[in-house]
Amino acid sequence: MARVPLVAGNWKMHKTVREAVETVSALVPLVGAVEGVDIVVCPPFTALADVGRALAGSKIELGAQDMHWEPQGAYTGAVSGPMLWDLGCTYVIVGHSERRRHFGETDEAVGRKTAVAFAQELVPILCVGETLEERDAGRTEEVVARQIRLGTPDLTPEAAAQLVVAYEPVWAIGTGRAATGEEANRVSGLIRGWLRKRFGEAAEAVRILYGGSVTPQNIAEFAGQPEIDGALVGGASLDPHAFAAIVLAAAGRA
Ligand code: PEP
Repeated sequence: MARVPLVAGNWKMHKTVREAVETVSALVPLVGAVEGVDIVVCPPFTALADVGRALAGSKIELGAQDMHWEPQGAYTGAVSGPMLWDLGCTYVIVGHSERRRHFGETDEAVGRKTAVAFAQELVPILCVGETLEERDAGRTEEVVARQIRLGTPDLTPEAAAQLVVAYEPVWAIGTGRAATGEEANRVSGLIRGWLRKRFGEAAEAVRILYGGSVTPQNIAEFAGQPEIDGALVGGASLDPHAFAAIVLAAAGRA
C-alpha cells in the first residue's frame, strides 16, 4: 500500500510566540505547497494559536506535543483534546519519551490519550522506543511491543488505519547518534506486524515514522526504507531551512 510520508516537527519547550511565528513564516514559502508529503509542526501550547494563524492557507498542519485524556476538569496545568481542536490542531504527539521519563507517563496513560485523541478528531502520533539499557539488555522487541499494545487500546480498524507511530529509540533522541536505517526499518517492520495481528489490514495504512537525531544529512537513509513513512524531528525542526530540507527529501524532491 502506498502511504503518504509524514514529517512532523516537535519543537519541545522552545520558542516564544514571536519566534514561533517567525519560524513558520520562513517555513511556509519553502514547503507550504509541496506535494507528496504531509507536514506537521508541533509548537509549545503557548504558540499554537498564533502559529495556526500563520499556517492558514498552507498545507502545513498544526499539532500539539501532548494532551490530557479528559475533555475538561480539575487537572491544573493540563490541556485537553477539545482545546487543541479548537485551536486548529489536527495531530497530537502522545507518549513522547520525555513525557514518559520526566513526567512519569505510564503506558496506560498513553493508551488513554491515544484512544481519546481519535474520539476528539485528533490524529495521535504515538511515540515508542527503547532506552539504551533496554537495548543493551536485548529487550528492544519486548519493550516496543508492550508500548504498542498498551498504547493502542480498543481502537476500531478505521481509527487504527489513521494512527501514526513514531519509533524513537530513546538513546537516539537529541544525542546526535541516530539509529541506522536498517535497524529502524527492522523495528518498524515488527511494529507493523504487531499492529497487523491486532487490526488486520488497517495496519498497512499506519504511518510509521523514525525519530532520533534526524538531520538533512541523514534523512535519505530513513526515507529510503520500505517500512519507514517519514520522520519525527526534534532539534532540526527548530530551523526552518533544515526542516524544509528534511521535508523535501522525504517527499523525494531532494
Ligand atoms: C524528538 O524530540 O522526538 C526527537 C526525535 O528529537 P531529535 O530529533 O532532536 O533527536
